[in-house]
Amino acid sequence: MKLDVDRKRLVSEIEALASISDGEAPAVTRIVFTPTDLKARAWLRTRCEEAGLAVRWDAVGNTFARWAGSDPAAAAVGTGSHIDAIPNAGKYDGVVGVLGGLEAIRALQRSGFRPKHSIELLVFTSEEPTRFGIGCLGSRLLSGSLSPEAAGRLADDEGKSIDEVRGGAGLRGELADVKLADGYYKAFVELHIEQGPLLERAQTSLGIVKSIAAPASLRISIEGSGGHAGGVLMPDREDALCAAAELILAIENAARSSGATDTVATVGVCEVFPGAVNSIPSRVGLTLDIRDTYLARRDGAMQAIERASRDIAAKRQVLIQSELVNADAPADCALEVRAALAESCREHGLPFLEMVSRAYHDSLFISRIAPTGMLFIPCRNGYSHRPDEYARPEDIARGTLVLAEALAKLSS
Ligand SMILES: [Zn+2]
Repeated sequence: MKLDVDRKRLVSEIEALASISDGEAPAVTRIVFTPTDLKARAWLRTRCEEAGLAVRWDAVGNTFARWAGSDPAAAAVGTGSHIDAIPNAGKYDGVVGVLGGLEAIRALQRSGFRPKHSIELLVFTSEEPTRFGIGCLGSRLLSGSLSPEAAGRLADDEGKSIDEVRGGAGLRGELADVKLADGYYKAFVELHIEQGPLLERAQTSLGIVKSIAAPASLRISIEGSGGHAGGVLMPDREDALCAAAELILAIENAARSSGATDTVATVGVCEVFPGAVNSIPSRVGLTLDIRDTYLARRDGAMQAIERASRDIAAKRQVLIQSELVNADAPADCALEVRAALAESCREHGLPFLEMVSRAYHDSLFISRIAPTGMLFIPCRNGYSHRPDEYARPEDIARGTLVLAEALAKLSS
């Protein structure tokens, strides 16, 4: 089998998909189920059909493009990622795994390879939490990690329910039917940019992921009392934003003092009410994102944050409430998938690193229902989720080549 990746075509497809965006180039903004996202989905569907793949989608819009194997009843081998992008993002996050997955399938087709197990490209709905506040919506439902009832209660910022939004996108059917049958996938591999600097620093084009860090996220609300910025004297204040400031630093401290650099915590949203120059903030909404490769350490940091928030609330006479959005366990990548990737690298004489994924991905959830692995390629300076995110064409092509080789091994 002689595998050739069509690098030029792959790069031009990445550019073409990046042009379907609500952001001004080079920024890419593609929020799930917006007209732009639907346009991108239609564009991608055409590319899959051109490759002779049978395309279907489920009630939440996860899209499956299948190359039937010689034993079509056998469990499929899956690959894929996401094409939604947060506001002001780059071209490569998710997209490399989708278009690289498609090109891997085309390269296998051109080589004359015929899989025994069907090979399926899977494009996940809403990996990014932008619209519904929860990441990996599609893969959570596919894996049964999120109940259809809980998913049904999700709504976007405008108060539109998920059923309303997906109905508007032309998606019918029940969320309860999204979960995949046990044994649906024999194996799953996701190609992705690293979103960190380690591969670039090591001057290595490929990373085989051993485990995926455990994310948790919370919504925190702080209620103080407002008033006139001139009239209320300092001893009488219950300023919600001052309490938030203390809490944000306590969160930073909890992550810094966990004893490991693997603990990371971020407050990325701070909404201040009423948000007026001469008005004491009466209410603040924060989000907390906290991750670690070890569950116990992450949960320990979360408990430290909880203690700090009780202390701050008592000291400042404010009410601090937090709502857990998600708290997921880390995942170990499957040995057989890691072995297929490592063997593929060796056959092509390509060095690789074994590493931890600190960002989480749909693979975290697919790993609950199928042997799963991830392959990373470097991105410049480790930048991601910003317009200057960049992956070199040669690295994308190498990742795609190794992905194709691994898909061949797993589907034979
Ligand atoms: Zn991604």
